[in-house]
Amino acid sequence: MSNSTTNLASYDYIIAGAGGAGLSLLHYLMGSSILSTKSILVIDKSFQKTNDRTWCFWDIGFSAFENLVHHHWDTISIHADGFNKELPTAPFLYKMIQGIDFYNSILSKAKSKSNIHFQEAIIQDIAVIDASNVNKGARVEWEGGTATGNYIFSSLLPFQMNQLATASAYSQSLQNNNSSSLKMPFLWQHFKGRVVQFDTEVFNKRIAKLMDFNVPQQGATAFMYQLPLNEKEALVEYTIFSENVLDISEYDKVLDAYLTNEFPKQQYSIAHEEIGAIPMTQISLASTQAPIYTIGALGAAIKASTGYAFQFIQDQCKNIVTQLENGQSIQTQVHNTRHQFYDAVLLHILFHHKMEGAAIFKRIFAKNKAVTVFKFLSNTSSILEDIQIMRSLPTRIFLPAALRVFFGSR
Ligand SMILES: Cc1cc2nc3c(=O)[nH]c(=O)nc-3n(C[C@H](O)[C@H](O)[C@H](O)COP(=O)(O)OP(=O)(O)OC[C@H]3O[C@@H](n4cnc5c(N)ncnc54)[C@H](O)[C@@H]3O)c2cc1C
Repeated sequence: MSNSTTNLASYDYIIAGAGGAGLSLLHYLMGSSILSTKSILVIDKSFQKTNDRTWCFWDIGFSAFENLVHHHWDTISIHADGFNKELPTAPFLYKMIQGIDFYNSILSKAKSKSNIHFQEAIIQDIAVIDASNVNKGARVEWEGGTATGNYIFSSLLPFQMNQLATASAYSQSLQNNNSSSLKMPFLWQHFKGRVVQFDTEVFNKRIAKLMDFNVPQQGATAFMYQLPLNEKEALVEYTIFSENVLDISEYDKVLDAYLTNEFPKQQYSIAHEEIGAIPMTQISLASTQAPIYTIGALGAAIKASTGYAFQFIQDQCKNIVTQLENGQSIQTQVHNTRHQFYDAVLLHILFHHKMEGAAIFKRIFAKNKAVTVFKFLSNTSSILEDIQIMRSLPTRIFLPAALRVFFGSR
């Protein structure tokens, strides 16, 4: 990487972790007038990024990364136990960006800026220089090097979302740690996906099969999704919301059976695979305090009831840059209190198995206009729309869950 540094040096901003959130922040900083007067250090253990994830998100109009959108869908479908429903997504589109396009686009632009520096290293510690005076900034340490910054933006999780073993070890450490946070629900949204290529045309590229619950539920909530990229190619992903991740062979077994059943006598090849475990929880994964701010998954950008994070990371990073431009104190919170409450209720119902996930999502999609559901998923629904969504659930399920969450016993 160019512009690298190994000596003790000072920067205005240090971005610790150059993944989804770190690079989004860098993107908005590069689009801001404050960049010209600031120095930035970006640190990651590896800038040799691979196509390790695809990001899908709900969007209206042009996104900040419209040129990177690999495919979009204007119709989705939901399937559960004899229930099959197609829903047009307008005014939303469901968009997909490939990780590698995102990483390359932002990193190549950043490399041309003389005031953006890069350090490839495993960060060992981040600490405030003087706890009694946060204006002195913080120090970031790695083997053989240290840098200081006035503001540090960290997305260094204690596990890796694309390595199931590290997620599993993290769950274990939470269970071994007898902390009060254990009383709060924690589920993994874990999955394995394959980009499959058929010789013949088998997909409708306009329709994303968003949730097909006709798959083994693993004693929890599980569904398959099919995101066609053209008539012959699609990302097919087996996704589970549960407390523990599976052995990799279990996802493969279900994917094999599903593809054989959906496309009998059709040959396909596997062009690419992705795996992941996204935390679905309102447990704080790290504290955020001046001058060290957490962003992305570490910074509570993930919507706890769905695992969606990409758009919330964009909101979080845009807000941070606006606050820096205006000289305001940094607020990284991105989910409003009302939607956090609904997320907590849904998570409570899923975590305590009060109702099957398949039944919840089937009812929500069956009883509401698609646009209302997408607004709810994007945290942009009004209070009346929220009530409408929650009324889709049986009162005997929703009410006790809401009361438990409201009174703090989750
Ligand atoms: C496979 C996969 C698919 C996903 N798909 C979607 C989706 O479709 N829609 C959606 O909304 N969300 C999705 N997510 C969830 C979320 O949007 C992503 O995980 C997103 O990448 C989170 O961004 P982040 O910056 O918090 O973490 P990451 O993108 O994981 O970035 C963290 C960075 O920190 C670096 N790092 C970690 N530890 C160290 C260290 N000690 N020293 C130096 N560097 C370090 C890593 O190398 C990495 O570059 C997906 C997640 C995964 C794993």
